[in-house]
Amino acid sequence: MPTKRVISQVPGLPTQDGNRVHLTRLVPGRSQRGSDAFRALDPFLLMDHFGPMTLPPGTDAGFPPHPHRGFQTLTYLIQGAFRHRDSTGGSGLLRPGGAQLMNAGAGIVHEEMPVPEHLETGGAIEGVQLWINLPAAHKGSAPGYTDLQPESMPWRALPGGRIRVLAGEIAGVTGPAVTPAPIAYAHVELEKGGRFEQAIPAGWTAAVVPLEGTLRVQGEEVAADTVALLGEGDGVAVEAAAPVSFMFLAGRPIGEPIAHYGPFVMNTPGEIEQAISDYQAGRMGRLD
Ligand code: MN
Repeated sequence: MPTKRVISQVPGLPTQDGNRVHLTRLVPGRSQRGSDAFRALDPFLLMDHFGPMTLPPGTDAGFPPHPHRGFQTLTYLIQGAFRHRDSTGGSGLLRPGGAQLMNAGAGIVHEEMPVPEHLETGGAIEGVQLWINLPAAHKGSAPGYTDLQPESMPWRALPGGRIRVLAGEIAGVTGPAVTPAPIAYAHVELEKGGRFEQAIPAGWTAAVVPLEGTLRVQGEEVAADTVALLGEGDGVAVEAAAPVSFMFLAGRPIGEPIAHYGPFVMNTPGEIEQAISDYQAGRMGRLD
């Protein structure tokens, strides 16, 4: 079978979230109605590319306490630093090249805020937060965090570039993030003339998202902050006509109904109602 072609390109929406964090929200099925928008790249829901931005001294830009239920976030930091705290008592520091896998499961309240150095001096920040859905059987699982240190996912050389594998096996490297929905996820940088080729299991969805620069798949150009959904084929071949930095993601679809409201992703509208009342009643915990 030939390699995959681009079947749709969906530009990201520049927006702000949390407390004045500039980001580009990448929803692969954005043109579809309601919760269907989150099915286009099952098991992935959306991707937020935050920054690159320079936080001014004294900033409180960040994500103050808010809840989640029913899915996972994989937050990868490219530059800067962030600290997090959550209602399970967990806390940690996110460094460049590192990531954190949060299992919202049955419910969590967390915050992601600048580090003290940023409060004093300001500084650059950039990263990518990927929302990965949980199968129904895991939506009630215990919430928690897994910190993935930069040392656990170093850059590896590619012909004409380099790759950092966060999850799954890509280019012969296995990433540290393990999720109930099997996925493969990597950050790839290519120089001009560089090439990235990767086999993808049959039946998996796949996409590439340039963060900076433009890439080519089967001759079709994909610009920065655009989700390029890939179609049928046994793999992907990405070419760089100029330097490019992009995320590659692939996963086995969960194939279950999706009900989405804000920070909650469940299977039915009734479960969303329950999530809202559980949060309001403090049953997802609190952050003091
Ligand atoms: Mn959050």
